[in-house]
Amino acid sequence: MNISVKRAPASVPAIRIGDHLALDFLNSIASPQEEPLEWISDGPSLLQWLEDSGKIQSDEHSWALKTFAKAELNEVAEEARELREWFRKLLLRVKERGTSGMSQKDIEKLNNCLVTATFSRQLQKSEDHRLRLVWKNYSSGVRMFLAPVAEAIAELLCEEDLSLVSRCGGPGCTLWFCDRTKSHHRRWCSQAVCGNRVRVNAFRQRNRANA
Ligand SMILES: [Zn+2]
Repeated sequence: MNISVKRAPASVPAIRIGDHLALDFLNSIASPQEEPLEWISDGPSLLQWLEDSGKIQSDEHSWALKTFAKAELNEVAEEARELREWFRKLLLRVKERGTSGMSQKDIEKLNNCLVTATFSRQLQKSEDHRLRLVWKNYSSGVRMFLAPVAEAIAELLCEEDLSLVSRCGGPGCTLWFCDRTKSHHRRWCSQAVCGNRVRVNAFRQRNRANA
């Protein structure tokens, strides 16, 4: 991990404004205040992020912590961060040039992560007898935890209108989102954060010019 990036404290929830898991994955490193925070700083935090994303169940999470050595999990988290930064560059390229900006090597990189998982759907009954149909991963290799994010990236590339995928217009803001508004005029990660900040700055500048 880049040592200048601080690990996100457990009390700060990961940012979920992307409206797509692949974009929330990109946003798992971000600067909600001044300094950048990393939500996938090690193996356990990757597992937590995946559980909070609904991509692994809590029993799978504890099974992974018991089954794999910390160093192995940390290595996967490192690979996940590397995949994330690779995807950040790929997304810019694909937005600019369409899927012709994607090489066979890029496709193989994603397929190499996708192949790490074997999923099957399973019926589960909760204590209050409610039934749920969940995806269970039956792989035994530690790299299986790359599959959910690789799948989200592949889904975004295949199924979404990439012209609606943008980076927040806030100065210095690195957050990405998929604009699902009816008018397709979403400009900010959040109106309350960047939208407001830009409005306040514009207001100050106008006032200064009028003074
Ligand atoms: Zn923003």
